[in-house]
Amino acid sequence: MTQVTTTRNVPFGRPWINDQDRQAVQRVLEGHILAHGDECKGFEEAFAGFMGPGAWAVSLSSCTAGLHLAYLQHGIGPGAEVLVPAQTHTATAHAVELVGARPVFVDCDPATGNVTAEALEAAITPETRALSVVHFLGLPCDMPSIMEVAQRHDLFVVEDCAIALGARIGSTHVGMFGDIGCYSFYPVKHIATGDGGMAVTRHEEVAARLQKWRAFGVDRNYKERILPGMYDVPALGLNYRMSEIQGALGRSQMDRLDENLRRRRENYARLQAALTDVEGVRILDGDRRGVTHAHYCLTIVLDDALGPHRDDIVRALNEVGIGTSIYYPQPVPRMTFYREKYGYDAAKYPHATKISDHSIALPVGPHLTSEDMDYMLTVVPEVLARGWA
Ligand SMILES: *Cc1c(COP(=O)(O)O)cnc(C)c1O
Repeated sequence: MTQVTTTRNVPFGRPWINDQDRQAVQRVLEGHILAHGDECKGFEEAFAGFMGPGAWAVSLSSCTAGLHLAYLQHGIGPGAEVLVPAQTHTATAHAVELVGARPVFVDCDPATGNVTAEALEAAITPETRALSVVHFLGLPCDMPSIMEVAQRHDLFVVEDCAIALGARIGSTHVGMFGDIGCYSFYPVKHIATGDGGMAVTRHEEVAARLQKWRAFGVDRNYKERILPGMYDVPALGLNYRMSEIQGALGRSQMDRLDENLRRRRENYARLQAALTDVEGVRILDGDRRGVTHAHYCLTIVLDDALGPHRDDIVRALNEVGIGTSIYYPQPVPRMTFYREKYGYDAAKYPHATKISDHSIALPVGPHLTSEDMDYMLTVVPEVLARGWA
């Protein structure tokens, strides 16, 4: 047996929280207003400002809440089909299932992990009412082509931007092409509020409906009430609000989002350069012309010789202190719930399946020190070259 000495511990993801963030939360706790306050409002304003002119931002308890409300507020339900990428987080599909509509899974482009306009169009039926896309690992999907298909078939478009904060095509952020975009602030995502999410939209009326849906469907919010505690409920709704504690955390992190994205870009470029010539490995990436990648992580896909050893390679990396993850561990239609409900035809999703079964996600987040990066640049290629096949 070989003796492995762990010299560093490099986490896959770790929220980047500083003193300013801690003070922001402390101020909320000292101020007694834990919901309906100025922190979420300030976070929404900062987020809409980041998205650019014409953006509305609605803070929510999670990205999943946003995806759910996207379909609810548009009236999509039983009888409708919604196109969903096979290679995504299960939330992208659950949101469709939760409103009683049927997710129809679409395989991805093997080079990028993104769905293409052509694959989406081929899956459209007379029942299709909406399509969803996920900007996989922070690389934008080809939204101009996808929107062209959506317009031709009169489809509602939901962008799952959970791991794509900062991704743009030209100067337009992802989330601003479709009808609604949903971001996540789960701890390992670009910024962290514990749990939390933000829906963005170009449509003022959609933002207004989201605001009602996230708060029980009441007619007057806390600040609009004439008598304290007095309101009516003209519509259905949920409680999908973000708390002020979360709002303060998110708002504070917006101040260094540019630095966050710059660090990710630099870490990604260094790791990419170190892995380019490693045999048996390719990097999931795409054509960058006119496109800004958000660098959520760097995912390598092992070739057919190394692929069957993926789990052993993961264990070897973890043993020397390098944190990894898998995005995503199964194509969603292969997850038990969907497999049992709709049956699973592996032949329909060869590319999503290969990414799930043969890939390893490596960290590039702003939590990494330059020593962490130096360590990864030597150790990752060394582990991959150990003669697994
Ligand atoms: C993390 C993730 C979600 C879920 O986000 P939550 O904020 O945890 O609800 C949805 N979609 C994708 C693609 C994700 O990666």
